[in-house]
Amino acid sequence: MTSTVYKRILLKLSGEALMGEDSYGINRIVIERIVAEIADVNQLGVQIAVVIGGGNIFRGMTSAGDGMDRANADYMGMLATVMNGLALQDAMRRAGLVSRVQSALRIDQVVEPYIRGKAIRYLEEGKVVIFVAGTGNPFFTTDTAAALRGMEMNVDIVLKATKVDGVYTSDPKTDPGAIRYHNLSFDEAISQNLKVMDATALTLCRDQKLPLNVFSIFKAGALKRVVMGNEEGTLVRV
Ligand code: UDP
Repeated sequence: MTSTVYKRILLKLSGEALMGEDSYGINRIVIERIVAEIADVNQLGVQIAVVIGGGNIFRGMTSAGDGMDRANADYMGMLATVMNGLALQDAMRRAGLVSRVQSALRIDQVVEPYIRGKAIRYLEEGKVVIFVAGTGNPFFTTDTAAALRGMEMNVDIVLKATKVDGVYTSDPKTDPGAIRYHNLSFDEAISQNLKVMDATALTLCRDQKLPLNVFSIFKAGALKRVVMGNEEGTLVRV
C-alpha cells in the first residue's frame, strides 16, 4: 500500500461544491466526480470523515435577512445538510463505497444519531462517515462542525474542499493580481479576515493545533495529492 502522510482526515464539503455550475441543488455528475476522488483516497487506507454543508439548498442567514426567525432558518439550513448527506451516501453506494450517515439532530427513521464511539469504529472499519446537521445548534456553521468533529474524531488534518484552489490575497475571480498563499498561520487568517473558514472554526482549530488544508475538489487528484503530503492549495497551521 502506498504510504500517506495523513491516516485519518476530516473532509469539509460545502453544499455549493455539490451544485457545480448549477445555481441550486445537487448536480449528479459533480457529486459522482467528488465521490470518485474520495474513493481513490479510501483505497489508500485513509480513514475519511466528511462534514457536508447545505448552502446549495438553504442558508439560514439569507432567510433571516429576509425577516425569518434566525434560529428557525438555521434549523432549516441544518435539514438541508441532511439531504446533501443522503445524496452523498447514495452516490457512494453507487460507486461501491460503504458509508454511514450520522446526524447532530435526531431523525431516527432516516439517519442514525451522532455517537462519537460508533463513528470512530466505522472509521476504523474503513467506512466513510458523513456527519450531517452541522453542530446541531443554530448560529453555527458547518465549517465549525468540521472543526468540532475533526477534533472529536482525532483526525490528523481538516481538508476544506472549495471551488477555488486555496486562499488568495483577494478574490482570484475578479482580481487577476490575486496571489495564492502556500502557508498561513491561524492568527494571520483570523486577523486579516481571509476567507478560509469562519472565525469560530479557525479559533477552534488554532486552539487544538489542528491543521487545515484548503484545496479545490474540482482539480483532479488534488485530494489524493494532499493526503500524500504534496503541496496543494493553502496549508493553515499554528
Ligand atoms: N447551520 C446551523 N448550525 C450548524 C451548521 C449549519 O445552523 O452547526 C445552518 C446555517 O443556517 C447554515 C446552513 O445550516 O447557513 C447550511 O450550512 P453552511 O452555510 O455551513 O453550508 P455550506 O456553506 O458549507 O454549504
